[in-house]
Order: sequence, then structure tokens, then C-alpha cells
Amino acid sequence: MTNITRRDFLDGMALAIGAGLTPDAVVGADSRPVYPPALTGLRGQHDGSFEAAHTMPFDGRRYRVGGLPVEEEYDCIVVGAGISGLAAAHYYRERFGTDARILVLDNHDEFGGHARRNEFRVGGRLLIGYGGSEALQSPETNFSSTVNALMRELGVETERFRTLFDQQLYPGLGLSRASFFDRERFGTDRLVTGDPTDWVADDIPRERRNGRPLEAFIGDFPLSAESRRQLIELHTSKKVDLARLPDDATREDYLSKTSYAEFLRRDWGMSGEAIAYFDGRTRDFFGLPPSLLPALACGLYAYPGFAGISMPADEEAAAELAEPYIYHFPDGNASIARLLVRKLVPAAIPGQSMDDIVLAQARYEELDRPRNPVRIRLMSTVVRVVNGDGLVEVGVIANADRSLHRLRARHVVLACFHMLIPYVQGGLPPAQAAALRQNVKMPLVYSNVLVRDWRAWHRLGVHEIYGVSSFHSRVKLDYPVSMGGYACTRDPAEPIVLHLVHVPSVPGIDEPRAALRAARRLLLDRRFEDYESVIRTDLSRMLGAGGFDAGRDVLAITVNRWSHGYSWGPNTLVDDWEEHEGVIETARRVIGRVSIANSDSGWSAYAHVAIDEAKRAVGELPAH
Ligand SMILES: Cc1cc2nc3c(=O)[nH]c(=O)nc-3n(C[C@H](O)[C@H](O)[C@H](O)COP(=O)(O)OP(=O)(O)OC[C@H]3O[C@@H](n4cnc5c(N)ncnc54)[C@H](O)[C@@H]3O)c2cc1C
Repeated sequence: MTNITRRDFLDGMALAIGAGLTPDAVVGADSRPVYPPALTGLRGQHDGSFEAAHTMPFDGRRYRVGGLPVEEEYDCIVVGAGISGLAAAHYYRERFGTDARILVLDNHDEFGGHARRNEFRVGGRLLIGYGGSEALQSPETNFSSTVNALMRELGVETERFRTLFDQQLYPGLGLSRASFFDRERFGTDRLVTGDPTDWVADDIPRERRNGRPLEAFIGDFPLSAESRRQLIELHTSKKVDLARLPDDATREDYLSKTSYAEFLRRDWGMSGEAIAYFDGRTRDFFGLPPSLLPALACGLYAYPGFAGISMPADEEAAAELAEPYIYHFPDGNASIARLLVRKLVPAAIPGQSMDDIVLAQARYEELDRPRNPVRIRLMSTVVRVVNGDGLVEVGVIANADRSLHRLRARHVVLACFHMLIPYVQGGLPPAQAAALRQNVKMPLVYSNVLVRDWRAWHRLGVHEIYGVSSFHSRVKLDYPVSMGGYACTRDPAEPIVLHLVHVPSVPGIDEPRAALRAARRLLLDRRFEDYESVIRTDLSRMLGAGGFDAGRDVLAITVNRWSHGYSWGPNTLVDDWEEHEGVIETARRVIGRVSIANSDSGWSAYAHVAIDEAKRAVGELPAH
């Protein structure tokens, strides 16, 4: 692994860190890190987690386990310890009884899948960040009765976030959202504060944004006068109404098949420079640039340019705009994963409430005890699943020594990535393999950076920065949530965790799935040092005018690389809207005693979908 240890990190920083602000050591007696949430360096889909999976050829025949002795037998083996896999184990116990013996396997050194906790200790204080899945999305509208019932069982009362999440903290300090323009693309480095515009999934109410008048905000962009005029017009005028098209259905069809970039160019007559303003913004939310996204999707999610067009109703998009983005534990949806683990293996995480989960320390050594009815085994990659005679054969590689093992179970739930299943599952019908392969996940990186204070942010009057064409499309102060004895940072003089988002993109590829595959390769080629360098540079350029000094202020970095990130969602530029439901149904079809879960099964990158799909997958297993 290339993770830097705290010790390595401190060696390079020792002279710069002041007394009382030294990150506390989290190394064991042998100087090796011991507790996954506290590891810094390259995390997420970390080195050592995916190499075994990448040895599988497409025909899935390479790993034959038939000649090996059967080492263990279970009622159910679940592949993947993300929220969907953990929920599947829970639903299996619900359906088949609490004495059912279940093994959950995952290729990482941590459970939770994308729902990942990052911890930092500084000056004796614990600061918690989210390494992936960050918030429950619009629970009032999006949660099914299944998801609501699970939340009740886990003790999660989502309405409590209305007070646990302090929506007034940053507005009360006079902070706003800003856009940063970089000199490579726009000729000068410029931070423009006071963004008054609507953002999807917003945690700050409109009237508290500290936004300036739109004309003043866009007026400060380092663009030509004509491009600024075009952007103001785009945000304020209804001049594009698509009245040249005969009816709403034709207009919807046009917006489904026209990219947002093309819509802005053709229908609004905008310059390339003005269109480039949305480059990082669509990548940040959808994982793709404006040229690879249908205009319709952008219109439904509050991107500007659609005020004059009668748009179709979309309940999910409307909910994401209407419900505040506040359903956030300090470690994001890692708390949901941890609550599930507590339910499945009580000895692994003590406590009983949504409050005490926040500070509870997981005992990783308890996860895989032979006496547990449910066992969770990490650093284990499933490479083969074949229906046998009344049982399913499962081939597993132990990542640590690459040894291959043969296990058996009455049932298997594949709660792993869909695009991987054709490599693993024997006897897949070709149509199902083709449907599964359509789910190309989006690569992205969530970095958490511990800094000694946030005075520079306070001086500049910002809490979140949109990097228009920077490496990081978003750089922000952590969400202010205090609960269960955990107190978020409230004073700009105190240390805080910064959250940085990078969504890679390879220019010149005009097919969305191919673009995502190419972008994924970029992520896998970069080392921690590459990320560290650009984190320091971006922060210095964005915040330098406020007095930020990376050499002095950065105390620790955790880079969560998600080479296989968000699930694919229907993209009407390339997917047929009428047919995509059929593709989804074909992909998740049960195969003998093996069923398929994961948020990929709903083509939707949400925790509530991961849970709904787990319930369905367990329900589809044969009874005996
Ligand atoms: C950066 C990021 C931010 C997100 N933010 C949000 C958010 O704010 N809100 C929200 O609702 N959703 C968010 N999501 C979507 C997220 O995917 C879901 O919320 C949810 O966590 C998905 O859970 P899952 O179990 O379906 O999949 P995953 O979390 O991907 O879990 C699947 C697990 O299976 C493992 N696996 C795969 N193949 C094998 C194998 N062969 N053997 C063993 N194990 C295997 C994987 O490595 C992984 O650990 C985000 C996703 C990412 C990447």
C-alpha cells in the first residue's frame, strides 16, 4: 500500500505545525496504522483492494474452485459489505430466521462500501469526515416504506437533522458560496464570492445565502463582456421557449437528445467561454461534462436556461431541490453502515442509538468470529460464483496472500458492482451479461484535508468554492453537524476538515460510457503524492488572498479514490428512455440461488435505493 502513515506525514510537516495542533498518532506499536477510519493517505478504493478483481478475464472461467476442499458452508453468502450488502444480510435474517448463518465478504479493509468514515485527531480533539456517500437524499419524498421501516429499526429519526445540522452557522458568519476561475483557462486566478444562484441538494436556504445581485456576481467573472451578458441573460430571461417545436412531447424529446452544452450553444447562442462556466458544475453533480449530459436532466436539476420552457414533472428531481440537504451524520452515510453492522454483529460496535453511533469505535477484530451467526470478512474478493446441486459454490481470494478458497452457501446475494458480475457469475445468459455491463460507474475522488484553522475562509467570506475548471470542482468547509457528544467546529480559529471533490474527465471522447472508462484509468494511474500536490496548489490559489498557507495550515490528508463511484443513471443521449427499465430488469434477474442487489440494480446512486434493492434481492431467493 502507498498509504503514508501519520509518522511519514509528520516528518515532512514537523517544523510547520504549532504546539497543540499536532495530529495525534494513530499508529500501532510496530508503527503500522491499525484502525481503518483513521488511516490517511490514499483510501476509498485503496491499493490492495482491487488487484485480485482485476485479474479476472471476461469469460469468468479462470478461477475454478471445484478441485479445492470446501472450507466453510453458510446459509447465505453476501458479496459486498456496502449498505446494500449489509441490508441484505439484515433482510435475510428477517426472512430466514436469526439463526441463519451468513458471511458478508468485501474486498476492502473497511466495511460500508462507498459509505466511509474518515477520522482525524488534532490537539486531543476528534474531527470526523465523510469519505464517500454523504447524506440521506430527500427522505420525505424518496424513502419507501421499506427504507422508513429500516430507519426505524436502526433508530434513525431523519427529522432530527433539522436541528442537529446547523444551517445558520456559515450564513451567520456572513459566508457565501464562491466561484473560482483559474488562470490556465481564464487568464487569471479569481475568486468571486456571493453566488446567489440555486444549487441542487443545497443545505443553505435561499434567503440565507449571502448572495449578491446576480449582475454583480457574474459581473466579476473574468470573461469577456459579451460572455458575462450571455450568462446573466441565461439566468434571468425566458427568451428560449422552444416554441418552434410543435408540442411539449417534442420539446421533451429534443431536450432528451440534445446535450446541455449544445442547448446553450444552439438555443441560447452562448460562447464556448460562457458554456465552460458549467464544466465543473455538471461533473460535480452528474459525473459528466455538459457536452455528455442531456439538457433535460440539467433543466430538471435547476441548471439555468429553462425558465421559458414548460418542463415535464419529475418528483425525484423536485424533491432534491425542495428538501434541504441536511440529512448528514458527521461521517455521512457511514453511520447507516455502522448501524447495520451493530445490528448484525452487536459485539463489533457498542451502543444503541443514532446518537451514540457517532463516537462509537468499531472493534474490527469482532467482525469475523466463528461463533457469530453473521460474519463480516474484509480484504476478501469473490472471483467465482456458480450454482451447484442445491448449493452455490463461491471462490474467494484473500487479498493479503492471494490464496484462493472454496466456500459454499444455500443462497448468494451479489451486492457488488454490476459491471463486475459477468466476470464472476457462471452461467449468465448473454442478454443479462450485456445488461449488467451497461452499468458503468462514475469515477470520482473525495479528499478530506485537516487544516489548523479556517480564518482564511472567514476573511474571504466563503464557506464553499466551485472550481470552474480547477482540478477540484468543489472545495468546502465541513457540514456543521453536532450530535451524540460530537461537536462540529464553530470558531474560525479552530481546526476543521475541508472537503474537496475531484471528478476526472478526458476531453475529446463523445460517448459517455467510454468517457467514464477513460477517466477511471486516470484515477488508477495517480499516486497519493499527485493528489497531495494538487490539493496544496488548489487550496493555495483559491484561498491565498485570505492568508491561507498550505505549508503551515495543512495538517493531514485523506484521499478517498472511488474509481467505481456513482452508479450509472439513465442518460437519454445514449439510453432509450422507453427501454432502460427493461435493461434494469434483465440485469438484476435472479440466477438459480443467486440474486442481485446493490444501488446499481436501480441505476441510481442513492443509499435508499441500495436498501430497497437489498430487500427485493432477498425476497427473490428461492425458499429452500
Ligand atoms: C463519492 C460518493 C458519494 C456519494 N454520495 C451519496 C449521497 O450523498 N447520498 C446517497 O444516498 N448516495 C450517495 N452515493 C451513492 C452510494 O453509492 C450509495 O449511497 C450506497 O452507498 C451504495 O451502496 P451499495 O452497497 O449499493 O454499493 P457499494 O457501496 O459500492 O458497496 C458494494 C461493495 O461491494 C464490494 N465488492 C465489489 N465486488 C466485490 C467482489 N468481487 N468481492 C467482494 N466485494 C466486492 C465493493 O468494493 C463495495 O465495497 C455516493 C457514492 C459515492 C461514490
